Amino acid sequence: MRNADLLQRSLNAVWHPCTQMKQHAGDGALPLVPIARGEGVWLHDFDGRRYLDGISSWWVNLFGHCNPRINAALRKQLDELEHVILAGFTQQPVVELSERLATLTGGALGHCFYASDGASATEIALKMSLHSWRNRGRSEKQNFLCLEGSYHGETVGALAVTDVAIFRDAYAPLVRAAATVPTPDARRARDGETPADTARRAALSLETHLTAHHQNIAALIVEPLIQCASGMAMYDPEYLRHARALCDHYEVHLICDEIAVGCGRSGTFFAYEQANIKPDFLCLSKGISGGYLPLSIVLSTDAVYAAFYDDATSRGFLHSHSYTGNALACRAALATLDIFAEDEVLAANRVLAAHLGECLAPLAAHPCVRHFRQRGMIAAFDVVSDDPQFSSRFYRAALDREILLRPIGNTVYVMPPYVISREECAFLAGRAEQALDAALSP
Ligand SMILES: *Cc1c(COP(=O)(O)O)cnc(C)c1O
Repeated sequence: MRNADLLQRSLNAVWHPCTQMKQHAGDGALPLVPIARGEGVWLHDFDGRRYLDGISSWWVNLFGHCNPRINAALRKQLDELEHVILAGFTQQPVVELSERLATLTGGALGHCFYASDGASATEIALKMSLHSWRNRGRSEKQNFLCLEGSYHGETVGALAVTDVAIFRDAYAPLVRAAATVPTPDARRARDGETPADTARRAALSLETHLTAHHQNIAALIVEPLIQCASGMAMYDPEYLRHARALCDHYEVHLICDEIAVGCGRSGTFFAYEQANIKPDFLCLSKGISGGYLPLSIVLSTDAVYAAFYDDATSRGFLHSHSYTGNALACRAALATLDIFAEDEVLAANRVLAAHLGECLAPLAAHPCVRHFRQRGMIAAFDVVSDDPQFSSRFYRAALDREILLRPIGNTVYVMPPYVISREECAFLAGRAEQALDAALSP
């Protein structure tokens, strides 16, 4: 197999996600990159080229490609049970995973509901919230609230709480869009404001909205600390403290979508921990299976669970997906959690994140860079450029330099697997700086 063979067959047969397919066609087209194998942070093609996976393959990979420990756990599971229906049946991996996740929330969220992708987790949380209010005689609570610039997935239901025009506009007739409240994004700081001040100002707007509309609002959904897909907007934990207090006061559920920021990405296992709060619902996906298999989970409180526990079938939560609680995916998640425990990953990541920040310091000081920011294993900066092609120019310049980075508009971010070495951090940062200069001077 050569790159060229697979590339052409892929363009004929595969409709690639998040892609205008025409950009891959013709002279000077954006290259499609065939990958033959992965090892650690590296992706290798068929022709002897390699790429450092600086975005963890869309934020899912935590401990490297083809991790020997996760591979071994999956091989063993494969010989015992691959999958079984989860309605009326149960199995060891799903039970153990549910117990361990509940423990990680300190017992606050003791009930795990399973699906296969992040957008479904969002929809499950929305449905559960609305239905639980309905079961408690509050059927007027039918609306949701999200932050400006929020991203919670792209299925029709999830688009209701995704405030990203390019993903939503074409489908507007299908979508019952939720109301948005101002983002606490620290870049919105007014003169002299600290990030906490900016967060408090956004919380005041939330309070105003809730005061007027709380009777009809089922839940507020947020990405704690970092709004990832709309450009790695980072904000102070103060916002979450206020949001929690306001949701309690106005009887509105708080849904934390930690699909991207969970599993240690932000520095703590769950990002909400940094605000010392607990949500009513927690959505997990992406990193939870180590980047191996599609898996998503919605954790909820005893109070939510109790609202469905009844003699009447229709008061139950009847939502289902064929692959709910897939044993292999749960086993991958358990192997991932084992690595967190055995290697004390959160402590190791504190050192690694500091090192990554040092490596990126020259980029932060680059004359065209604004708002360099970092939280845990995510670092991002905005590039001053009027070039509408900046993002694809940078992406190509990075690939030419053996690194995979996909800017979001003019925001460049790095979000590497946690197994990246110190040398690889320096390599990533150095090559990113070269790519930036190349993209800025075409
Ligand atoms: C990726 C993402 C989703 C959607 O997950 P999919 O598996 O792509 O459907 C939802 N919320 C957040 C915060 C995400 O980053």
